[in-house]
Amino acid sequence: MRPMFAAALLALPAIAHAQAPDPAKRAAERALFEKIVEIPTVAGRPAEFKRLTTVLTAEFRKAGMMTTVKDHDNTQTLIARWPAARPSGKKPILLMAHMDVVEAKPSDWKNPPFEFREEGGFYLGRGTSDNKSQLTGIILALQELKRQGFQPTRDMVVLFTGDEETAMHGVRRASTEWRNLIDAEYGLNFDGGGGSVYPDGRPEGWYIQIAEKTYADYKLVATNRGGHSSAPRPDNAIYALATALKAIETHRFEPMINTATRSMYEQVAINDKGQYGELVKQFVADPKDRETADMLESLDPGYTRTRCVATMLSGGHAPNALPQRAEANVNCRIFPGVKIETVRQTLQALSGNDVTVTVDAASTTPETDVSPMRSDIVDAYRAAVATRFPNAPILPFQSAGATDGSYLRAVGIPVYGVGGSWGVVGQKSGAHGLDEKVWIEGFHGQVPITVELLKRLAS
Ligand SMILES: [Zn+2]
Repeated sequence: MRPMFAAALLALPAIAHAQAPDPAKRAAERALFEKIVEIPTVAGRPAEFKRLTTVLTAEFRKAGMMTTVKDHDNTQTLIARWPAARPSGKKPILLMAHMDVVEAKPSDWKNPPFEFREEGGFYLGRGTSDNKSQLTGIILALQELKRQGFQPTRDMVVLFTGDEETAMHGVRRASTEWRNLIDAEYGLNFDGGGGSVYPDGRPEGWYIQIAEKTYADYKLVATNRGGHSSAPRPDNAIYALATALKAIETHRFEPMINTATRSMYEQVAINDKGQYGELVKQFVADPKDRETADMLESLDPGYTRTRCVATMLSGGHAPNALPQRAEANVNCRIFPGVKIETVRQTLQALSGNDVTVTVDAASTTPETDVSPMRSDIVDAYRAAVATRFPNAPILPFQSAGATDGSYLRAVGIPVYGVGGSWGVVGQKSGAHGLDEKVWIEGFHGQVPITVELLKRLAS
């Protein structure tokens, strides 16, 4: 809870700093966004990715940048580079976003998902929020920097992947076989940050993602010689699997804290004077306190530890036969620093000898550490946001899901999820869901913020 006077003080500068929108500039920004949103870059439609990279290549050319387009795995990845005008010897900065969007079923949507429209202060359409607003924002910012005659002292490299929402082959290849094209001191992932502003114009804060959990699926399999169901025996594949799943249900992994979740919780403790805030304070004071961690998990799951949950189940082959096989999928979101194999061993110990636990290797994202907080990046981010929202706090966090950033962190390139745009507190973006939308002020407002951010980091 903020003191009343602070709210009043913050609301005024926010208005005072808002630049009067230039209608022609806005129209051009909107037109590019519309063009990008209306190309349905859904997995399995390589022709649409070709259309989008053609549009983007032309836009990068306006910023004086050359692009490389990689055709791979039924999608495309675009890499662009602005070479340093006055090289300082510093390694490049990598600007990241993704071109693909989650499938959208027109019959479920209020309006056609790939028809761009404007309504109630929002731009609507699949991908507007995740991740085409930020992708468009990067290009608009680079074009604006070009217009201003900006002379970077280090290379700025852009990586737009085409399968972040699905297989993540783009970033995996970028981090390995195309490493020479994208190598950087650090990445700024415009799919992992951004701001949150109250309806009265007061900023809640700007998020910076510095860590993410590892994704892994585990297969639990129980097999049995089976037999006639008129002669039951104590050994039974379905009962063995059910017993294992009940043990996993009640198991709680060790509570943990790191720099990302600690600073996230410290911010909550400042702002939430209720029961949740009180629990958060207790947890920060004693992160080994299982009881407090359990209560936090029940209120807002995913941040105090590794979490696993049964997600799929099958078994048996006939209603009148003892089951010869029963299997389940257990999905885990693993806390940074914990090994996928360690979690498997725990699941195996809980499951007993009649059930075999294996890792579904194709499902996993890389194990990554927290990217170290860097004051140069945080200060630049804060200063860039302050051009529009003075005093907006920068809020580090760890995401419960996985992003492209994990593959780069895994090969030693720290990644910071940032973004110039913002949403309205309490308004759903519809990302991955229905009627996706982005706040119009946040879309256009991201451009000068991103321009300022890049000026500070690349000069
Ligand atoms: Zn995304």
